[in-house]
Amino acid sequence: MEQDQALTQAVAARTDDLVTLTQDLVRIPTLNPPGRNYREICDYLGARLEKRGFSVEMIRAHGAPADSDRYPRWNMVARIEGAAPGDCVHFNGHHDVVETGHGWTTDPFGGEVRDGRVYGRGTCDMKGGIASAIIAAEAFIDTHPDFSGAIEISATADEESGGYGGVAYLAEKGYFDPARVQHVIIPEPLNKDRICLGHRGVWWAEIETKGRIAHGSMPFLGDCAVRHMGAVLAEMEASLFPLLAGKRTEMPVVPEGARSSTLNINAIHGGEPEQDADYTGLPAPCVPDRCRITIDRRFLIEEDIAEVKAEIAALMEKVRAARPGFDYEIRDLFEVMPTMTDRDAPVVRTVQAAIERVLNRHAEFVVSPGTYDQKHIDRIGRLKNCIAYGPGILDLAHQPDEWVGIDDMEDSAKVMALTLSELLVKR
Ligand SMILES: [Zn+2]
Repeated sequence: MEQDQALTQAVAARTDDLVTLTQDLVRIPTLNPPGRNYREICDYLGARLEKRGFSVEMIRAHGAPADSDRYPRWNMVARIEGAAPGDCVHFNGHHDVVETGHGWTTDPFGGEVRDGRVYGRGTCDMKGGIASAIIAAEAFIDTHPDFSGAIEISATADEESGGYGGVAYLAEKGYFDPARVQHVIIPEPLNKDRICLGHRGVWWAEIETKGRIAHGSMPFLGDCAVRHMGAVLAEMEASLFPLLAGKRTEMPVVPEGARSSTLNINAIHGGEPEQDADYTGLPAPCVPDRCRITIDRRFLIEEDIAEVKAEIAALMEKVRAARPGFDYEIRDLFEVMPTMTDRDAPVVRTVQAAIERVLNRHAEFVVSPGTYDQKHIDRIGRLKNCIAYGPGILDLAHQPDEWVGIDDMEDSAKVMALTLSELLVKR
């Protein structure tokens, strides 16, 4: 108990450092796409951690999507060994940020501090989380220099565009092998009193209806692919959307609306391509022979992906049976299985207890409606003892005037430091 107090005090004593570190990270604009300054941010973090006794590796994801000599996909992995063998606790944060967009009242890469907050793109998602993990580790090492096991801190590329040049690449190279790493915490902005256990599944697909082109004045000589797609959409409204809304999960997904299966139609296109904005002519009269939609189906841990796909196939066959000449094709684009770490997993229980100690309230368990890098750690790394836990309010991510609270960073750094103490100090 006394030791814990010394540790949380050591974190609190580093608040200025925590703020400066966050500001420094925000001032390196790691925009993705296209993937700017990845090496710069890895060098900055590597230099800091090397000084603290970590051995640092710089890993470029050669051959990963979007990797090029102009925009190389750099990742940094730092590891420090304790005085005796034991578990390894790994903190993983993505260093890329999304575009700034409009509506900022402060410099998105300025790292301005105002009213107890640090402002800027990536403060919340998730440079504030990376800074909190580093401060937690440094305070822990100073307080418990004789700890057992190992601590790893990684800063990885491309989470915002799927993580293939980042965590997926490292997982393929064995960095998340359960023989090497036993506990993973991803400090994504889930709020300091919530533990994110995982995410729903994803299936993206393209559905195309087929017709026959003809002159628009004699549509009966052709076959309109857009009308066929209209029938598909009508059938979705009549049967599929109500079916999905009725499927409820035991996963504690937030927000509440995402506790059902969902389907979004991301795009629809049929017929003549849209012309450039400066085209001043009229369209040509044609019966469209192709119509395409892109669907984004989010599914629950209780659902099987084969069943999810079969639902769509059955719907298409139902439409086919009712419409002469109806023909279609479904193309898979992308899929991710749902994942949810067990509430009894060691990292979950340890962080849960630390939240209760630091914040004096019960931790809340949540599941993310969308995916994040945990998918690669689970599927490629085969490492199940993984959560997302970090400071920041999720709703602020990707918004103008994004910020992270200094108090929130300090509190979650304390939670992370106590977690290290629980997992790596022999009592
Ligand atoms: Zn993020």
